[in-house]
Amino acid sequence: MTISLIVHGGAWEIPDAEVAEHREGVERGIAAGWAVLEAGGSALDAVEAAVRVLEDAPIFDAGTGSVLNSDGNIEMDAAIMDGQTLRSGGVAAISRIKNPISLARHVLDSDVVLLVGQGAERFAEGVGIPRCQAEELIVERERIRWAKIKASGARTQDAFMGQPHDTVGAVALDQHGNIAAATSTGGTPNKMPGRVGDSPLIGAGLYADNQTGGGSSTGWGESIIKVLLAKTATDAIDRFGDPMIAARHAVDLLHRRVGGYGGIILLGSDGTPGLAFNTPRMAYGYRVQGGETVVGIDPVV
Ligand code: ASP
Repeated sequence: MTISLIVHGGAWEIPDAEVAEHREGVERGIAAGWAVLEAGGSALDAVEAAVRVLEDAPIFDAGTGSVLNSDGNIEMDAAIMDGQTLRSGGVAAISRIKNPISLARHVLDSDVVLLVGQGAERFAEGVGIPRCQAEELIVERERIRWAKIKASGARTQDAFMGQPHDTVGAVALDQHGNIAAATSTGGTPNKMPGRVGDSPLIGAGLYADNQTGGGSSTGWGESIIKVLLAKTATDAIDRFGDPMIAARHAVDLLHRRVGGYGGIILLGSDGTPGLAFNTPRMAYGYRVQGGETVVGIDPVV
């Protein structure tokens, strides 16, 4: 069975000055996930490993480097899904966990699907994941951005078209033919405290089903949720056969139906990658067995 992996580091305007760091982060995410798949590891372990690396890279809006909400705090969302069993685990509005995706993985192994806020942080203690200080996750770049946004009061999709807020995600196919997907984010800048986006919601921010494929979304959560972007896109793989066409179909629908901006990465059940975005840029990378890592940031023509 072919192994295959695709990751993203967020869809928005990515300034030229930050392109190299985005590409490098994506490459490191691929390397981490690929090492797991190559050693015969599971798709779930591979997407968790890839997303942990992306969460730790301060350039992305996930884990360390997350954007700040209107109170100037970090609130992160993450989820992971297993395409073999359709089990999933998500966490939302958590503040003091260095790698939210690993907490989501523990939720997947529990008997609930989604945990939020204080309850999620208490659950973390129970499974041995230590809390960190919020300050350890906040980077100077986001403090500066927050001060500027605060002054302008902006909180809408249009206001943020020019701002990078780089959610991360990964989809993998392992040697046993199992697909998994994972997404992690700090959300959108200056969001309302308690606001939860698409990222931890199965069907919206991610989806994985061995029978069709897997996907991870990025973009304006309030739009993505309305069209269940990840489920729409994986269903479209079934319909169109080609994950590239499926991704384009889903992103076109996102814009046509609710005026949304964002992007999606996909793997078909045979490991064929697909991706599309309607933002100026999206950081992405993929690798399919027998090939080299492909990394990109500009629209695919
Ligand atoms: N989808 C994320 C959210 O709305 C943000 C992003 O992907 O940039 O929380």
